[in-house]
Amino acid sequence: MIVMKFGGSSVADGARIRHVAEIVKTQMNLKPSLVLSAMGDTTDHLLEAGDLALNKGKVEIAGVEKLHFAAIKTLKLPAQSEVKILFSELTRLLSGIALIRELTPRTKDYLVSFGERLSVRIASAYLKSIKMNAKAFDAFDLGFLTNSNYGHAELAKESWDLIPEKILPLIKGNVLPVITGFIAKDEKGCITTLGRGGSDLTATMIAAACKAQEIQVWKDVDGILTADPRIVKNAKPVESVSYEEASELAYYGAQVLHPRAMLPCMKTGTPVLVKNSYNIEAPGTRIGPPAEVKNTHQAKSDSGALRAKKRNQPPVRAITSRRNITLVDIVSTRMLGQYGFLAEVFSTFARHSISVDMVATSEVSVSLTLDAGYDLGEVKKELGKIASIDIKTGKAIVSIIGNVKRSSEILAKAFRICQLIGVQVQMISQGASKVNISFIVNDTEAAETVKALHLDFFAA
Ligand code: ASP
Ligand code: MG
Repeated sequence: MIVMKFGGSSVADGARIRHVAEIVKTQMNLKPSLVLSAMGDTTDHLLEAGDLALNKGKVEIAGVEKLHFAAIKTLKLPAQSEVKILFSELTRLLSGIALIRELTPRTKDYLVSFGERLSVRIASAYLKSIKMNAKAFDAFDLGFLTNSNYGHAELAKESWDLIPEKILPLIKGNVLPVITGFIAKDEKGCITTLGRGGSDLTATMIAAACKAQEIQVWKDVDGILTADPRIVKNAKPVESVSYEEASELAYYGAQVLHPRAMLPCMKTGTPVLVKNSYNIEAPGTRIGPPAEVKNTHQAKSDSGALRAKKRNQPPVRAITSRRNITLVDIVSTRMLGQYGFLAEVFSTFARHSISVDMVATSEVSVSLTLDAGYDLGEVKKELGKIASIDIKTGKAIVSIIGNVKRSSEILAKAFRICQLIGVQVQMISQGASKVNISFIVNDTEAAETVKALHLDFFAA
């Protein structure tokens, strides 16, 4: 069994859905389960419709309707009663929001769930029309149970047993399940979502729980790239990365996979293949356990020439940046050697539910980064009793993901480049995961820094 996941742009319209069917057909011998995102930008459009209902009291879903009915037409499907029912439910929901002018996180999850619920029904109707034994499923009917953390719910332990109990009999019965990504339900039976881009996690969870042999994540890029192609035009796909590297990349702005998507596969060692549905021929990126990644790099059977090429391989897999970061410098006003200072700093942030990302410390001071947008007034007041605090906004994290065993070489090169282009490095940290070296620069300098580093590390 394998799991094939197709993202929004891979199912953006009727023609793309037809193309997905072609890809799936070639893999039927591997007994696939499909996981689909909402069509195109439907999730965004549903959120916009929610805002419009909330703020203006208007119910407006013509665009979303048009996209889905056009696909039904392109695919030459008969009238889809289930799709019509979903649209009338969606209209009622938006009318409700417009009426009471309230949109809670729980209702928001219910609202965006329509995207995936619609896409799987249309795709499976098409697959059936071309004589494939497809059936549409909502993931919450196949064991996807979460906590009630609406907007970014976490899967419950029980799902590890529930999912295979539901899915394996379908696979045995030669059914091609077409499953909603992104959505689940909590214990109360309310719809939840796994966070934006969460369909990746749906797919990896199914594959890991069902012990599938592989997950294929079909995107609109040639795999995980060495840098953001919007910044670096000649960014190249990376052949293979470890789960750790992939999750660091996802968090630090590579936007290729959901940051939490690697967790289930890490437990089971299930390999993930990232492929481009717009360019099937491209080999894509393989994500696997570190040993497997290492083996492909150091296989004994490699020819001499290949070995030499690999020796010359850059120590870096990819360079990313995450913008809109706030840097907080906290210097203790107590005596040197005081204990409990760091504990107090971090518990203050935790009490205010502020997620701290990068950290660097010295005996009496700590610098840390946060995403912009938190209100830091209270934190500043509380920490002000034990430290002086300096908050600097408009920063970016530049991350180098790679072989940290060669960190001296990476750091030497990186800092020489920063010096050459006149960029001041304001904080540095080497991640405990041992695959990530990150540093802070001004937001306005981030793109230039990534470009220059990419040129240097990946030249030749
Ligand atoms: N449709 C959801 C989103 O756009 C989930 C996904 O695509 O993975 O975030
Ligand atoms: Mg999407």
